[in-house]
Amino acid sequence: MKAIRVHEFGGPEVMQLEEVPDPQPGAGQVVVRLHAIGVNPVETYIRSGTYAMKPALPYTPGSDAAGTVETIGDGVKAVKVGERVYIAGTSTGAYAELVLCDESQVHPLPEGVSFQQGAGVNTPYATAYRALFQRARAVSGETVLVHGASGGVGIAAVQLARAAGLTVIGTAGTSEGLQLITEQGAHYALNHHDPDYLQELLAINCARGVDVIIEMLANVNLGRDLTVLAKGGRVVVVGSRGKVEINPRDAMARDATILGMTLPNVPPTELAAIHAAIGAGLAQGTLRPIISRELPLAEAAAAHEAVMQPGAHGKIVLIP
Ligand code: NAP
Repeated sequence: MKAIRVHEFGGPEVMQLEEVPDPQPGAGQVVVRLHAIGVNPVETYIRSGTYAMKPALPYTPGSDAAGTVETIGDGVKAVKVGERVYIAGTSTGAYAELVLCDESQVHPLPEGVSFQQGAGVNTPYATAYRALFQRARAVSGETVLVHGASGGVGIAAVQLARAAGLTVIGTAGTSEGLQLITEQGAHYALNHHDPDYLQELLAINCARGVDVIIEMLANVNLGRDLTVLAKGGRVVVVGSRGKVEINPRDAMARDATILGMTLPNVPPTELAAIHAAIGAGLAQGTLRPIISRELPLAEAAAAHEAVMQPGAHGKIVLIP
């Protein structure tokens, strides 16, 4: 099969399409033939060698994809050969024609959800669900600011929060992004490049502030986030690309909580709960991954350039 291989850490050009042996399933394992592969910012950090987690070289990037079950190992009960699935992690890397997964990493892809959409499920929706409901413990009737709502995680957070009965305020940096987050369920859409957008946010609920913030760029926003929280508010740091200075008194005055999260830390039982909820939302149609761009697998380098550009409006996927 063909797969993207990285033999040394570096720029996007270190990703090369190569011929590698087809994976074979052992007991409890599943091989999936991929029809679409999701691209996430973290895959660029890992490829560059600057991320805390460094895979052994050479490696194939990626953890998100969708396709059909090709072969199963002994004892596999959750899926059948030929079934449509999305994957949530793989031991061989998702930027490939075939992947090897543990049975627990393979989830049914409901009819009506395309393979491209299935490739946009795992990291964005699992992160958004984890942040909203397992870390911030958001409940219906609360107000959430999805700070960076136009990208993969942000759109997932808007759809999940809206379906759960929260008042949703989303931000984007372009008019296209603002329109998209409104279409996806945000009650209010603000431009995070507008100098007055946090005053606008406070005006929405008469200066009470928001109960929950899902933060995609904490190094820019965390200090100001603490000034727009309601009493008892929670900020979940999902993304950060550097350091930030905060005034701890802004947290003290509000009994506020700053929560970190990273998807690989999720314990197996909570991960199973996350995918049960996502599966239900996909089947019911409340969760609808948005695809902004499709590129051939051979153009993984261009996808890595694109995913780090401003002006997000959904997911970039690779087609093998
Ligand atoms: P993405 O698709 O590239 O989206 C990035 C989002 O950040 C866009 O909505 C973008 O809006 C927004 N943004 C840009 N400037 C901003 C600003 N000044 N204030 C607020 N938002 C701003 O990325 P993603 O996949 O959604 O991931 C978002 C971040 O979370 C990334 O840093 C990623 O590495 C991280 N992440 C962490 C975890 C975890 O486990 N902790 C999991 C997944 C992702 P515009 O482009 O419209 O300006």
